[in-house]
Amino acid sequence: MSNEEHETTPQIDVIVVGAGFSGLYAVYRARKAGFSVLGLEVGSDVGGVWFWNKYPGARCDVESLEYSYSFDEEIQKEWVWTERFASQPELQRYLSFVADKLDLRRSFEFERRVVSTIWDEVAQRWTVTDDQGIQRTAKYLIMATGILSAPKPHGITGLEDFNGEVFHTATWPDYDVDFTGKRVAVIGTGSSAVQAIPLIAEGADRLYVLQRTPSFSLPAQNRALRQDEIAAFEAKRHEVRARARYKPGGIDFVTTGQPVENFSPEERDALYEEVWQEGAPFKFQSTFSDLRTSAQANKTAMDFVANKIRETITDPVLAEKLTPTYPISARRLCLDTNYYATYLRENVELVDVKERPIKRAVAQGLELSDGSVLDVEAVVLATGFDAITGALRRINIVGTHGRVLADYWADAPHNFVGLLVAGFPNLFTVTGPSSPGALSNMVVSIEQHIDLIFTTLEMAQRDGVVVETTEAAQDAWARHGELLANRTLFVTTDSWYVGANVPGKPRVFLPYAGGVGNYRRICDGLVENGFAGFHADDDLSGVNAAIDAVFDAEGKSKFAHTATTK
Ligand code: FAD
Ligand code: NAP
Repeated sequence: MSNEEHETTPQIDVIVVGAGFSGLYAVYRARKAGFSVLGLEVGSDVGGVWFWNKYPGARCDVESLEYSYSFDEEIQKEWVWTERFASQPELQRYLSFVADKLDLRRSFEFERRVVSTIWDEVAQRWTVTDDQGIQRTAKYLIMATGILSAPKPHGITGLEDFNGEVFHTATWPDYDVDFTGKRVAVIGTGSSAVQAIPLIAEGADRLYVLQRTPSFSLPAQNRALRQDEIAAFEAKRHEVRARARYKPGGIDFVTTGQPVENFSPEERDALYEEVWQEGAPFKFQSTFSDLRTSAQANKTAMDFVANKIRETITDPVLAEKLTPTYPISARRLCLDTNYYATYLRENVELVDVKERPIKRAVAQGLELSDGSVLDVEAVVLATGFDAITGALRRINIVGTHGRVLADYWADAPHNFVGLLVAGFPNLFTVTGPSSPGALSNMVVSIEQHIDLIFTTLEMAQRDGVVVETTEAAQDAWARHGELLANRTLFVTTDSWYVGANVPGKPRVFLPYAGGVGNYRRICDGLVENGFAGFHADDDLSGVNAAIDAVFDAEGKSKFAHTATTK
């Protein structure tokens, strides 16, 4: 559909913001349910994260065979992945293939940034305004804006005075960036940097890696997928997909399901070694049942990886600098190809910017606090995102009685099950705060969220009701979320999971720590209990019953035994 056609479209049932995994599936589901739908996307094509993050080495950290849609048989049969962990170009081709196959692009307008959306209490519709001033209204609004789509402000003064080139991993240009023979600085050592650094180092004359906090990283053991592996997956695909939906991370693997103490040090390290050789970060951090809850148990995994770092980096000072001191997986575990070995190259230097913080950028490079200047021709910002709430808070979202989302979330992102916010009727956030999305195979979470949204919309249409949650339901969900989060090591460490990477952001554990399977069970319970929490009704019995069916009063899952077995 052309942009002009949309401008004259009088009534739209559903507006979807974003054209990544979430937006594409939401538009598909809207059409299937018979709604008129419009998608708005600021990028010039579909793909979301995989459209924007074109930096060298970008690839997924969940195996391609599972990091993909499961809702359509033909897509799964026709698309053939070439690598264990698909690269950004392949993922972008995949999402483009899906868009073509389902003819989704005709429902989208690209290069349209939604800047404002205001609830009209009389018309009971959302008025959505884009950056070109064009307004549309819709009965339902689905914010598929992504949890890692708003690059955080870098906060480096004087970068505009720098004479060289500046790149951000998440807004990487379309052309082939050539660092051959150049002096380059990479700022950051999170997942994006860990993937980019080895490849930038191969070409650059000199590479400075500016590290504030080291990351734990596992070797991806990436390789081409063999025909027989693909055929074997295809033969069991239905069962794998069905199991993954009930696993904590939305990925189908089996672990011991037992605490570390049940194993001798030799047995324990042999199990870590097995997963290390396999290249499976989610599995590694789940090798034992208490790695996320016990600092003592976690220390065994930390020590295992620290030893691996020391095996590669024989300089003890450098090895120590590269070894994190926070619990493994309290920040996102990285997946790499040759990351630690890259520091053995003569053209690579680790610069500790905790010791010597970046003072400012100057014409010829980056000045550090001790007055030294890193003389570089290019700066790569691998500095991360205003995660989970950033993309939403950047839009002027105004609900009932003039409630502004950014203000309402100033102290914490109040919401119900990561999908609804009190005072914002008929508005849905996909993998919003307090959903398990960020800690999972996101595609599994996205499909579940969007399926639930459309189950809810069918009910709303049938019953002629507005979908709206209450502050009481939000509080109940927040209490449950806190109970679970406070049992984990996530809350002990600064990370984007707790908003600590963005100055001034409230420190709140943003994802839901109960796992994908348990979350799904609770959501199913809410639906069974008459869409409890999805109506402007302060009766919490349905919400509490759905939670109590899955967790006991201490926050222990009643389904823990099913999480680790096939
Ligand atoms: P996105 O893909 O982020 O799409 C959101 C879209 O909304 C974007 O295209 C954006 O331009 C658009 N948008 C935002 N605001 C507006 C606005 N105001 N107006 C118009 N459009 C707007 N997850 C995993 O499970 N496994 C992985 O291996 C994995 N790897 C990742 C690698 C990188 C480099 C990054 C950054 C994230 C990765 N993730 C991974 C998480 C990733 O966010 C999800 O897997 C998934 O791609 C999210 O899809 P989405 O459609 O919800 O969001
Ligand atoms: P990130 O994990 O938040 O890492 C940002 C890095 O930049 C950190 O090392 C941070 O240091 C540093 N930094 C930020 N501002 C800085 C400053 N002013 N000075 C010095 N250092 C600064 O961001 P990311 O690497 O882009 O990854 C974000 C998330 O995206 C990941 O956690 C993951 O979920 C996803 N992702 C996945 C993959 C994958 O493997 N599939 C790849 C890329 C991204 P501090 O920690 O000290 O703040």
